[in-house]
Amino acid sequence: MSQTQTARLMDGAALARRILEETSGRAAEIARRAGVTPCLATVLVGEDPASVTYVRMKRARCAKAGIDSRLVRLPATITTAELVATLRSLSQDAAVHGILLQHPVGSHIDEREAFEAIAPEKDVDGVTMSSFGSMSFGRPGFASCTPGGIMRLLDAYDVDLVGRRAVVVGRSAILGKPVGMLLLARDATVTYCHSRTTDLAAAVREADVLVAAVGRPRLVRGEDVKPGAVVIDAGYNQGNVGDVDFDTARTRARLITPVPGGVGPMTIAVLLEQTVDAASVQLGLAGP
Ligand code: NAP
Repeated sequence: MSQTQTARLMDGAALARRILEETSGRAAEIARRAGVTPCLATVLVGEDPASVTYVRMKRARCAKAGIDSRLVRLPATITTAELVATLRSLSQDAAVHGILLQHPVGSHIDEREAFEAIAPEKDVDGVTMSSFGSMSFGRPGFASCTPGGIMRLLDAYDVDLVGRRAVVVGRSAILGKPVGMLLLARDATVTYCHSRTTDLAAAVREADVLVAAVGRPRLVRGEDVKPGAVVIDAGYNQGNVGDVDFDTARTRARLITPVPGGVGPMTIAVLLEQTVDAASVQLGLAGP
């Protein structure tokens, strides 16, 4: 590909709309057959403005898709034990089919302990160790939503992963690590980069498929993108800026996600789809 060409955009917003339409139809079908509306419980700790906005967006999408949402607001001063008790109680509540604990919960709380209080069958955000293990071993369970959304995007654009060099920049438990495992399961050759990686540019230059999941504006330089690569930018930074220098990267890549409108909408679509999957299994309408 010559440098004057521009990459095709991977339209996550359009794909997410299609997934949500289908999810909405399935939610209505569950309500008709079981007399119960699928329900997502969202737990929000404190008043972090970004978290408040994310939760509001997720609840609005639920309403649009015909999924009930229950908001549990907890004060920032809550203890780990109290948060764990709330999540255990939601895990046992038959009217709740999926549980989302909005990250971050505050540094005084043991977030991992809180996540582990979510029953695996209701872990529609895919944050528990059980979900991560199932996903990594290719067993039934819920994918972490952003990684799951990224794989759906790659599939929608027919990206062949077998034997390709995939480079994941970032190794968080909710994003970098699980997306690497999903790429590995699809026979890509996966490299993880992180804050201690000594030559990020060299790794990026090798990538047929690049996933940026860091949270640093334009950390990945466009000139390091391999010509013809597929670039997935999961980063979201102030000012609608991703982790990849989009303007230069798009002159070299074959496919690239915009920020916003790429990975972000896919995360919510997968969350709602998995909520309907969970309701379907819990109400005896589908196998696990
Ligand atoms: P995180 O928990 O802060 O993890 C960031 C990762 O980036 C860490 O693994 C860190 O390495 C690595 N890193 C930091 N500086 C680096 C550097 N200079 N070079 C290479 N790697 C570096 O973040 P996260 O929760 O995974 O989120 C990452 C980004 O994705 C953020 O912009 C976030 O807003 C976005 N995000 C988007 C969605 C969505 O729906 N679109 C969902 C979740 C997150 P160490 O492990 O060594 O510290």
